[in-house]
Amino acid sequence: MLLQLIRARRRQVLVDINTQRDVLLAAGSDCVRNHRRVLAHIRRMMAWARSNDIPVISTCELPAAKEGSALTNGKNGLAHSKIGYTLLDNHISFSPDNNTDLPRDLLRRYRQVILPKRCPDPFDEPRIDRLLSEVRAGEFILMGTMTEEAVSAMALGLLQRHKNVKIIVDAVGARDHNDAKMALRKMEAKGAKLLESKKIAGTSHLRIVGACECDSCRRVMAKQN
Ligand SMILES: [Zn+2]
Repeated sequence: MLLQLIRARRRQVLVDINTQRDVLLAAGSDCVRNHRRVLAHIRRMMAWARSNDIPVISTCELPAAKEGSALTNGKNGLAHSKIGYTLLDNHISFSPDNNTDLPRDLLRRYRQVILPKRCPDPFDEPRIDRLLSEVRAGEFILMGTMTEEAVSAMALGLLQRHKNVKIIVDAVGARDHNDAKMALRKMEAKGAKLLESKKIAGTSHLRIVGACECDSCRRVMAKQN
């Protein structure tokens, strides 16, 4: 079968939700709270996936307002909208459409699959629905933005499909602290496990974000040099 592909050692998949410049950099149009902390943990999780051959499924949100912009025009814009270190060299990305076509052995041939999303709920996108429903993985490990919207919809949809879900609580960004807390509680009640990035990726002294130019991120960078 098409997607009996994940034979990765521990059969884990990293689900990388909307780790895009517009929501994670201070200069972005819709930046999350605590972006520096969240970004540092996202970076560490990506490093973990890279060095452990963990397949990465990434979603990229295309807001309706941006329809027709460079971002929605083809696949290159999609990759370009992501934070640099959330991109693996060997990736494939798709254009937004209602197709459910997926190449054979997708996750065997590519380390990272980047899928456009035109709505907050990933399961409203036919191709994402198909991929996530068919991937056989022991564990889906979630990070990204926004906790109270896309991350929550992803987690609840996966749980509904009887998948094991882990949320990396320090690698998810939120717009509103209380809404995010409520959303996490709901995911946990439905069966998701909440844990910190160090439980999976170990600890490191990496606090450098290295993608954002704001004062807070620069100050940390200066301290470390
Ligand atoms: Zn910053």
